[in-house]
Amino acid sequence: MYAIGFDLGGTKCATGVIDGKANVVEENVYATPSSWDEAKVLFTDIVNQYQSNYEIEGIGFGIPGLIGTNGYAYYSPNFQSLNVGVDVIGELKEKIDLPIVIDNDNNCSGYAEANFGSAVGKRVVVSVGLGTGIGGALVIDGKVFRGAHGFAGDFGHATIDIDGPLCACSKRGCFEALASGSALGRIGREYAQRGQGQSLVDLAGSIEDIVGKHVGASAQAGNQDAIAVIDEYAHNISLGLSSLTESLDPDIIVLAGGVVELGDVLYSPLMKHFEADTQGDKNRPRPEIALAKFGEKAGLVGAGTMALSI
Ligand SMILES: [Zn+2]
Repeated sequence: MYAIGFDLGGTKCATGVIDGKANVVEENVYATPSSWDEAKVLFTDIVNQYQSNYEIEGIGFGIPGLIGTNGYAYYSPNFQSLNVGVDVIGELKEKIDLPIVIDNDNNCSGYAEANFGSAVGKRVVVSVGLGTGIGGALVIDGKVFRGAHGFAGDFGHATIDIDGPLCACSKRGCFEALASGSALGRIGREYAQRGQGQSLVDLAGSIEDIVGKHVGASAQAGNQDAIAVIDEYAHNISLGLSSLTESLDPDIIVLAGGVVELGDVLYSPLMKHFEADTQGDKNRPRPEIALAKFGEKAGLVGAGTMALSI
């Protein structure tokens, strides 16, 4: 039993063959096509290629942006030719005679973690990806909760600080602007501008070049300024996670993205803040905070396994 998964990113399109136990048995990466018409040609070629080697039962697409429950893509900042509202499933079915599912890429990742990854056996699962932006998903009883139209789970644009930094969406102080992987670098640069991050400047070469990995490396080496940067960053993450906990009462929150590789240097201040920020923390079961199992492959695995579930 095999399915093909696609994970369409801003610069690359990961694709692969996934089996019923969520193993990626073959994987290939292509440059993201420049238009939807080009994408249809590429997708059809890839499907034909895989079909000649595997018994394929379905195809799943993970696409960033607003993906409707009706199979349409309405908005994708990384793949703008979808922004006119494209009937992705309908158009692909004209070329490919297999069951096709499509969902937001973060929903695919959450589905993979809930059913095959770090949250197996948990009933109410929140997944939060701390990457360039913040994506999320809510998975209940193994199924993605998609809201009325398919757009639920976009936690990144909840306002955490009305006077906070400008977000890519043009609002201020979104969870994403404060706690994405990119935000760690920004906080580091702000410390350095105030003269509090010389070790970061030494590592990066200049204030402008400080990014999250410099903060992480410096904090892991024990530098107090970098540890203070991480503490502020961890508090920002905690504010988002505590709001999600209060709204959704999850069993588990799965964190993904490059910054989780910082390990204890991030995890320990995060848990300290999370205890303080969550209302009634001492009087309620606290959700487990776990790290994602599938890493970069979560979207691909989720898209493929979702296709096998229909
Ligand atoms: Zn925003």
